Parts: sequence; structure tokens; C-alpha cells
Amino acid sequence: MPTSIDARGLLDGFSLDHKVALVTGGNRGIGRSIALGLAAVGAGVVVTGRDAARNDDVARELGSCGLVVRADVRVPEEMENVVAETCEQLGRLDVVVNNAGIGQLSSVLEMAQSDWHEMIDTHLTGTFHTCKFAARRMVEQGEGGSIINMGSMYSLFGPPRLMHYAAAKAGVLGLTRALAVELAPYRIRVNALLPGWIATDMTSAVRSSDIGEVIRRKIPLGAFGTPDEVVGAALLLACPAGRYITGSEIAVDGGYHVADLPMGVLS
Ligand code: NDP
Repeated sequence: MPTSIDARGLLDGFSLDHKVALVTGGNRGIGRSIALGLAAVGAGVVVTGRDAARNDDVARELGSCGLVVRADVRVPEEMENVVAETCEQLGRLDVVVNNAGIGQLSSVLEMAQSDWHEMIDTHLTGTFHTCKFAARRMVEQGEGGSIINMGSMYSLFGPPRLMHYAAAKAGVLGLTRALAVELAPYRIRVNALLPGWIATDMTSAVRSSDIGEVIRRKIPLGAFGTPDEVVGAALLLACPAGRYITGSEIAVDGGYHVADLPMGVLS
């Protein structure tokens, strides 16, 4: 086959052997799948979350290549400690996935100040803390790195009763783009994933309500995604195969963000 692309080299580009990754909110849902995916391609993986039972479950699944640290992304000291603990126990830090998140519906007319702050603190400020402490470590190591921030299709849309979520997720995109430029001289790449409707605890109430079918009809690929279906895009951004990608966002949504009307309406 006349090509300058070496198949073995391409596949090697998806290995994270001897690398260490940190996944916030990795004890269930999308974060858990990404953590297991990173471990499957060779990385040592550190997972954070708050729930002790779920933390124990994912620790068992990761086995000897994993470490689980109880930490709340809203607390900067706890995230600084997670980064320190990662480097102490696993020796380095190469990949960070800022995934921890919450969902909560509320109209702007009634929203409590505390709900606004909890949403912004978890998604946006938590991502900032973790980027700051992780980037310091990556700069010290001098070997670059990859930071993946979890946005959402609601980084782009204006969902009613989710303005705090949409504001936080749009903020995550701004943070991602600015950090991509600021950290590029250190070869630290910063990108965002924008999942669509993924079947996790966060979306279980919506999926089992009447709205679930309305949503499904607007997804061009015809079904809610699974957490495992987000892993491939995460690995591309995490691995050397994605070494020229920074400041980008990848939608993993079955085409939802480019669909105008429910499927079948105009055909
Ligand atoms: P889940 O509800 O299944 O999991 C959320 C994870 O975040 C849990 O591990 C939870 O652990 C952790 N978490 C929440 N708050 C904190 C906190 N303060 N500190 C540390 N960990 C925390 O959610 P998903 O897997 O669905 O979502 C993962 C990410 O993907 C989120 O950022 C979400 O906004 C985003 N996303 C999800 C979509 C979907 O359709 N599911 C669509 C678009 C984006 P614990 O409670 O133990 O702390």
C-alpha cells in the first residue's frame, strides 16, 4: 500500500503506557468509562469523587493500575492535594479529565443563589482549580500534557431552566480556549468534549419521562449515547495520536447539535 503512514505507529499513538491520568467525577457515568478507557490503553489512573461506596466500586474495577481519592472539585485545597497525591503515588501527571458535574433544573425566576453558585463552582471553578494545579505540575515535568474539559451541547444551546448549567458549560469552553493558547508553549494541550444526551444517572429522569422520546427523535443517530461511546473521543484527545489538537471541542452527540427538527419531519 503506497503510504507514508505506518499502521503500527498509528496504533502506538493510542497508547498511554507509562503515563498517568486524573479523572474528576470518575466513580460513575461518563467519567468512570473514560477512566477505564484510559487504564485500558496503559495509563495509571487516579479517580476522584465524593461518594465512598461508588469510590470503592471503581477502585475495584481499576485494580492495581488505579488510585481513588475522595475529593470535592469545589474545594481548591482538596484538588491541590489530589494532584500532589497523584504524583506521590504514581510518580507523574500527564492527562487530566475535568468531568465532575451535576444537573439541576430551576427557572431563573425562582433560582436560589446557592443553586447558581453550586453549579458554577462545580463545573467552572472546579475545572479552573484542577487545571491550575495540574498545569503547574505538567510545566515542572517539562513533557507537555493533555487537559480535557467536559463541556456539553449546552455549552452551545440555550436550555430553559438550565441557565446556570448552560452558563457554566459555556464558561468551560472559554476557559478551554484561553488555556489552550496560554499553555501551548509548554506543549500542554487543552480541549473540550461536548457530549449530547448520554444515558447516565444525570439523565435518567428525563429519559424515562415523555420528553425522553421527544429528545430521541431529534438525535440523528436515533438513540441516547452510552458512557462508553464517549471514550473514543476522550482517548484521541488524551493520547499522542491527538498531539496537534488543542483549543478544540469535539461533540459526541449522535449529531444532535446540528439537527434542526426531529428526524422524519421533513422527509
Ligand atoms: P453522573 O451524574 O453520572 O456522574 C457525575 C460524577 O461527578 C460522579 O462521579 C460524581 O461523584 C461527580 N461529582 C459531582 N459533583 C462533584 C463534586 N463537587 N466533586 C467531585 N465529584 C463530583 O454524570 P454524567 O456522567 O452524566 O456527567 C459527567 C459530565 O458530563 C458532567 O460534567 C456533565 O455535566 C457532562 N455531561 C453529561 C451529559 C449527559 O447526557 N449525561 C451531557 C453533556 C455533558 P460524587 O457524587 O460521588 O461526587
